Amino acid sequence: MNLPAFPVFPGSLPDAFRRGWALRNVRALDPATGEDAVRDLFSDGRVLVDAPPAGAPEFDASGCLAMPAAIDLHVHFREPGGEEAETVASGLAAAARGGFGQVVAMPNTVPPIDTPESVFDQRALASLAPERRVRYAVAGCCTEGRAGRKPAPAAELAGAGAVALSDDGAMVEDDGVMREVMREAAWLELPVMDHAVRAAIAAGGVVRDVPFARERGLRLFPDEAETAAVERDLALARETGAWLHLQHLSAARSVRLVAEARAAGLQALSCEATPHHLLLAAEEIPGDDASWKMNPPLGTRADREALRRGVLDGTVDCFATDHAPHPAAAKARGFASAPFGCLGMETALAATWQAMVVESGMRPVDWAARWTKGPAAVLRRPAPSLAPGAEARVAVLRTGPWTPLAGDLASRSRNCPFLGRELPLRVAALLA
Ligand SMILES: [Zn+2]
Repeated sequence: MNLPAFPVFPGSLPDAFRRGWALRNVRALDPATGEDAVRDLFSDGRVLVDAPPAGAPEFDASGCLAMPAAIDLHVHFREPGGEEAETVASGLAAAARGGFGQVVAMPNTVPPIDTPESVFDQRALASLAPERRVRYAVAGCCTEGRAGRKPAPAAELAGAGAVALSDDGAMVEDDGVMREVMREAAWLELPVMDHAVRAAIAAGGVVRDVPFARERGLRLFPDEAETAAVERDLALARETGAWLHLQHLSAARSVRLVAEARAAGLQALSCEATPHHLLLAAEEIPGDDASWKMNPPLGTRADREALRRGVLDGTVDCFATDHAPHPAAAKARGFASAPFGCLGMETALAATWQAMVVESGMRPVDWAARWTKGPAAVLRRPAPSLAPGAEARVAVLRTGPWTPLAGDLASRSRNCPFLGRELPLRVAALLA
């Protein structure tokens, strides 16, 4: 029987998929079992292996990869307060297009998510969004108003459904306040996700010390802004027993600090690397293009190499995008004064595959683990799987060159440094 090749479904799935689906000859990557094998994969809502469900659409998926739907622990959806850049609905559409079945949104909206009511409001926004395949969770603030002075009501935030605590966008600078936050988080078994950057040391730095920065007279970002924060956080994690999740590491020394802390026995510890810190470097900034301005700024090539080694040896257990949409007008202000951040979700799987599998020789199933098993562990969830009987929530990727263009994006924003750059695969569908 000649089956149709699996196509690209950038938007929602045809209704026929409600009956299930059948993929023949797909390369299945299952981090939960370590499987990397070409086989048939069927679903009636659960993964089947013997036969496809009756009437389900059936495809030849040769040349495609299947993996459990990815989990992004770090996104910014800007609603309320920044709907021009992204809404919960547009963010969830972008997540689905990127192959994500679950995202965790950061609470630095305006106003921030620091009360149980604001957590409920977020859940209501997600329930009204047309995109139903992506599970939406939020982190609640560490401190009231993200002001860093008084802990937010963590137990109430958790009770309303917050899955983590974070003041992302800024760290909790005051050691005493962070100690209180982490003690409560330990009691509640909530991970504390920290944007580990000491503002006083960063001193407004927007870029690492590379020739481009000096030519333009831009303020420089010293590694110590990040590493001093990482050291403080690790000390408080040891003291309080809270699960510490370090966000978007960018400096070689930060990776070393995490590895040393683990070797010394600190187990309640995880960290993430972003697609941009893994694929790009400060020396490669193409000019005054603020899509390349992130917080923390891109590391040097040496930092990127250390970050990649950390991913390979397991020190870095999660990828996460830090998807940070901004209106075009704000990013047009240039490197010195544009806001920090770039889009991530829709190019994330392709960019990290390029950085880690193509350029660093990572085993594909280990790469998939950083998008599934690693983030699931932070959320205290079992690793998603493609094994028989598992919930069938699957990202299908088509291998081959793909050059993402602005028109491909479901996000409301366009500040993405990967636009126009050839990547080695694309997400064909989120089957969930
Ligand atoms: Zn951050």
